[in-house]
Amino acid sequence: MLKVLVSACLMGRRVRYDGQAKTVEDNALDRWRAEGRLVVHCPEIAGGLPVPRPPAEIEPGADADAVLAGRARILTPDREDVSDHFVAGARAASATARAHGVAVAILKESSPSCGSLEVYDGTFGGRKVPGAGVTARLLAEQGVAVFNENQIAEAVAHLEGLERREDSESGAREDAEGRRER
Ligand code: SF4
Repeated sequence: MLKVLVSACLMGRRVRYDGQAKTVEDNALDRWRAEGRLVVHCPEIAGGLPVPRPPAEIEPGADADAVLAGRARILTPDREDVSDHFVAGARAASATARAHGVAVAILKESSPSCGSLEVYDGTFGGRKVPGAGVTARLLAEQGVAVFNENQIAEAVAHLEGLERREDSESGAREDAEGRRER
């Protein structure tokens, strides 16, 4: 069964920097939970950061690829470099996804870890720029289809498409094996 990795804060866990959750209610999440498909994960906690913690942003002009390559940093407002925690969290999410057979991820938009379409611009002024967080980037790189909390319907359609393809491939394999045995 293909699994779905979901940001822990979207599932009601109070793991955000400010100690809060960003709970999303959605029938698809309930169904996936009942089916045993959900892998609930917070990369920043997995990377060793506490709750609460200072907010952090990718430094201005840089992107997730540069952070993952060690060429740019993720900083707090006091300019503490927390990049190592974020990169460790991204790697932990990537390993978790591999271990569980995750095909789809639903990640909290705009986070320097979980954002997939936009992130804060690094000035702590509340402005966002197109880009991704380090976990979203790493998961996408390994072939996980990443969606945000406003794209759950698209994630459902994508997962159903993947399962239809898997079913037809395994049907074709069984047909071929049946022909060989005859
Ligand atoms: Fe939520 Fe991701 Fe931030 Fe954890 S790292 S609190 S899962 S947005």
